Amino acid sequence: MPPPVFRFAPSPNGYLHLGHAFSAMLNSDLARETGGRFLLRIEDIDPTRCRSEFEDAIGDDLIWLGLCWEKPVRRQSEHFTEYRAALEKLTALGLVYPAFESRAKIARLIAEQKKQAPWPRDPDGAPLYPGTACALSPEERTRPTQSGAPYALRLDMAAACARVGQLNWVERGEGPQGETGPVAANPAAWGDVIIARKETPTSYHLAVVVDDALQGVTEVVRGQDLFWSTSVHRLLQQLLGLPQPAYRHHRLVRDAAGQKLSKSADATGLRELRAAGVTPAEVRRRVGLA
Ligand code: GLU
Repeated sequence: MPPPVFRFAPSPNGYLHLGHAFSAMLNSDLARETGGRFLLRIEDIDPTRCRSEFEDAIGDDLIWLGLCWEKPVRRQSEHFTEYRAALEKLTALGLVYPAFESRAKIARLIAEQKKQAPWPRDPDGAPLYPGTACALSPEERTRPTQSGAPYALRLDMAAACARVGQLNWVERGEGPQGETGPVAANPAAWGDVIIARKETPTSYHLAVVVDDALQGVTEVVRGQDLFWSTSVHRLLQQLLGLPQPAYRHHRLVRDAAGQKLSKSADATGLRELRAAGVTPAEVRRRVGLA
């Protein structure tokens, strides 16, 4: 049996906090306990938010915590060719369409519709895309992409779901409502998700499934905030013919007020804790891993 493969996949758009430390240490612990491999992946597809200084700080913080990972580290910004190939597969299946409305336009469309009935929201609480661009004729769909205007490429969710039927995954951890064991994927709850953009041939969802497959990741261990994203990941895996890893979502580390930690929250930042003389062993204890 090949060894299990774990990964920690931060985005370099801020400094790491105790929540990241928990996730990274848990992945590394599980890899060690199971004779598995531990990878680090830098999820830097968004050039407007990701910075090299944050990426350097991620490396420094993880070394300080005492973690070791395999080299070379995969940086998503260096793999746009692979994501483009996956995007082309989905396009060839007729499942992707350009949507050119601005955020403000989408908000206006939703506000108009909301007068009739409450508007559906995705599992993160954001209003679903109204699907206006999906309803256009083939000629109307391509016209704005030729005009040079920015656009997003969205997945035709109804068509994608119809193609694959009901999907599941086996949850080895726990979802936000205690979901565990076999879980029915519900990608439709996300509506027509963005799968790529004019300038970027990928999105978080597409890059994560392509990379997990290309890196041979067998165990996805990550925070409960991504639990329902797994529905979209299962759908993309099925459409692209990619293997299905095992999933284990873990509890989130919260601050004293019970709030989810943010990348700008100083009191729980690993650099701040290190500067204040806190030891890695103390970090381990604080996140409940001791
Ligand atoms: N890059 C994502 C984040 O920082 C994590 C992706 C994943 O673990 O699937 O939230």
